Amino acid sequence: MRFRESVREFCKRYIEPKWVEIDERGRIPVDLIKKMGEQGLLAIPVSEEYGGMGGTITMAAIAAEEIGYHDPSVATAVYVLLNNGWPFLMEKYSGEEAKQEILPKVAKGDAFYGIASTESHGGSDVAGIKTTAVKKNSTWILNGEKTYISGIREIQELPEGGGYFLVAKTGKPEYGHRNITAFNLIVKWNGKVKAGWKPTIFEEIGRRGISTGSFTLEDFEVEDKYRIGEENKGFYYLMEGFNVARILVAAATIGSGRWALDQAVEWIRNRRLFEGRSIASFQGVSFKFSELYSELEAARLLTYRAAWLADKIYVEKDSRWRERDLNVPVALCKLKAPEATSKIYEELMKWYGAYAYTKDCNAFRGWLGTFSYTIGAEGAQNIMRLIIARDIIGSEYVKG
Ligand SMILES: Cc1cc2nc3c(=O)[nH]c(=O)nc-3n(C[C@H](O)[C@H](O)[C@H](O)COP(=O)(O)OP(=O)(O)OC[C@H]3O[C@@H](n4cnc5c(N)ncnc54)[C@H](O)[C@@H]3O)c2cc1C
Repeated sequence: MRFRESVREFCKRYIEPKWVEIDERGRIPVDLIKKMGEQGLLAIPVSEEYGGMGGTITMAAIAAEEIGYHDPSVATAVYVLLNNGWPFLMEKYSGEEAKQEILPKVAKGDAFYGIASTESHGGSDVAGIKTTAVKKNSTWILNGEKTYISGIREIQELPEGGGYFLVAKTGKPEYGHRNITAFNLIVKWNGKVKAGWKPTIFEEIGRRGISTGSFTLEDFEVEDKYRIGEENKGFYYLMEGFNVARILVAAATIGSGRWALDQAVEWIRNRRLFEGRSIASFQGVSFKFSELYSELEAARLLTYRAAWLADKIYVEKDSRWRERDLNVPVALCKLKAPEATSKIYEELMKWYGAYAYTKDCNAFRGWLGTFSYTIGAEGAQNIMRLIIARDIIGSEYVKG
């Protein structure tokens, strides 16, 4: 509870007053990222020896939720969730030198660390990626393109830079998803952009505070010490990373949904029509509110159950559970939370009436921001359905 309170206090002071400006200007100020680093909001589950807090996935989820509440466009929460989830996986599988070099800078907010998996021919088909990595002595030469990747501008603006947990093809094509290797792709380091990385930034409709773009890799060199884990096991590490990151995504959208519900209570109590009746007195409004409230609470419980299980597996190392036991609980919360929040925004905007259709009303910022996750950021919703169906019905019946 004390952790949640301290995050909330921080958010009230430094994020809430700025969130509209963050969305409107399309930038999280670098000094806010640094402040979040100083506050210990980045790399929460990373060990203290690498600059993290040595905390839990549940704590990272609490941080994502509170930040999602105080910046309901979710941009600031996206920065935080990426820089908690992916550094956590990076620590689990990377070599010592890479960890010592990269993680403390990410934890301090001096460098960004995200995920680069998606390619233009379809993000859901991870096994079908085309980016290649070919080993020459102790260096890998990477060629290809990644797209819809978050953090491109942040890497360029942060003092140290940063990079990605990137997956590329390294084995024989017939190995399918077993020919993928993961790398720490550090594209700007110690303030210098590395040769062979050509980024582009997209103009986005929502959560504009954090950038999304694409990049090409042309003979981009990665030393073998930056390889993550074993060769040709990258697909499995990526899936594990998605499991952790998706819990935090769900938490961030729940934060935003809670904010939207609070706005709704205020509005439907005070908007008066038909001889001064509050619109909350109409069952068409109040019953809908109750439904939405219950959907969000259900999503919240699913999210913290997944976080609890992740802590059992990764933090407590409880041998009763295996990593793949997380698949369904995580898919459930990633499926439910963004959808519940999107529905809340749609209804809130209808309750606001015409006011919602102007930029004086900020509800659209939360709606468009959280919709990024209904659309498919951190995994399309149908992929969540596929994970659940395969596990519960059986993969021999349910094909991708
Ligand atoms: C704002 C934003 C930020 C993002 N940031 C990142 C990032 O930082 N790093 C990164 O790697 N990626 C990022 N992504 C990309 C994201 O991971 C992809 O959007 C996602 O994986 C889906 O890929 P796609 O958009 O190419 O859609 P596709 O894979 O082409 O899917 C299109 C549609 O087909 C459906 N579909 C696909 N396969 C199946 C199936 N087997 N069964 C039923 N339906 C199916 C999907 O549900 C979807 O509706 C981001 C996306 C957004 C919107």
